[in-house]
Amino acid sequence: MIGYSEHRPTQAIVNLSAIEANIKWQQAKLEPGQSLIAVVKANAYGLGAEQVARTALKAGAEGLAVATVDEGISLRKAGIIQVPILVLGLTDPQGIAEILHYNLTVTVSDLDFFDQAYQQLLTTDDLYLLDNLKLPFHLALDTGMTRIGLRTETEVSDFVTKIQAYDWVDFQGVFTHFSTIGGGPQDYVEYQWQRWLDLTALIPESVKIRHYANSAMGLWQDRQPASTWVRYGVAMYGLDPMDRIPSHFKEQVDTSQLGLNEEDPLQPALELISEIVYVKEIPQGTKISYGATYQSSEKEWIATIPIGYADGWLRSYQVIPVLVEGHACPVVGRINMDQLMIRLPHYYPKGTPVTLIGPDHGAYNHISWIAQQTSTIGYEIMTNLSDRIPRIYIP
Ligand SMILES: *Cc1c(COP(=O)(O)O)cnc(C)c1O
Repeated sequence: MIGYSEHRPTQAIVNLSAIEANIKWQQAKLEPGQSLIAVVKANAYGLGAEQVARTALKAGAEGLAVATVDEGISLRKAGIIQVPILVLGLTDPQGIAEILHYNLTVTVSDLDFFDQAYQQLLTTDDLYLLDNLKLPFHLALDTGMTRIGLRTETEVSDFVTKIQAYDWVDFQGVFTHFSTIGGGPQDYVEYQWQRWLDLTALIPESVKIRHYANSAMGLWQDRQPASTWVRYGVAMYGLDPMDRIPSHFKEQVDTSQLGLNEEDPLQPALELISEIVYVKEIPQGTKISYGATYQSSEKEWIATIPIGYADGWLRSYQVIPVLVEGHACPVVGRINMDQLMIRLPHYYPKGTPVTLIGPDHGAYNHISWIAQQTSTIGYEIMTNLSDRIPRIYIP
């Protein structure tokens, strides 16, 4: 795989101190017995799994969550061995030897997983891996997301009875996922909560880790029994799960169409910057970019910025201005694969820094604002940033 493009001024800046502050904010809300688990799936929402994981653990996170076994393995290979890593998605039982070797905690939704995994260990002569350890797992319960997990009392009772025969597994946890905390009907939250109470009543007491909180739940809901783990994702990266703007940005972001989050002083961890690599003054009537959709209405200063949709700066972000010394400069014409053009208020030289995400001379391009302008969510903007952009870590 071709990695970062270092010989180009386009960079993602990751402020690790923001991640730390966001974690501390959530931790102050935890009660005794609750732990914060840093969700670092999808390369830590695009910011870099290893660095974010280390920062989160230093700030007090007590475990990590990833989406796939491969994501878990790469964290273990990076030397993160002291904490549990929960794989949130379902896993191919063929990978059981690696799962055991790297001490990953898997999510299961049925007993088939164990049967097939055991068969696999037999086939590959790997049963010795179970000499000194059991396979740790969490059972997924589907309380209304309809994604993974057991749905009914019958299914759960059946699972709980039959699992006793599996002496090589360690039933450590049970969890569910709410679908409407961060937007949607709130009575559905109550429906899922009741399902959670009904289904977990059937889980043996020996299963100590019972979790249901994501960022939105962790920040905004205070239910009993509390979620043993708070699976802290988007808020750790400094975004409100509903893409409201924290009120301390009021001065810098046009919040006229946005909800404000008055309570949580979340600090966005990600900035995206570049530079003007080319600049020219064009006469009136000059067409710009593919499709010649833009035509200058007067003499204009046009700058070229080396970022495009292959970097994750999607064509639909054409409506998002690029900041140059605090000026909101409109993108003119279509965004290309690797470059885009902006209109400057006046001449700026080559090498002038520009900001796509983050602060710039008192102005601010906030991811949640960009998300709202482009009909998406902050999560999608962050995870779209491609491998081509180097991630630069600021302590
Ligand atoms: C991604 C994910 C999370 C984290 O969600 P945020 O909204 O980013 O906090 C938590 N739990 C599960 C099961 C997930 O898949």
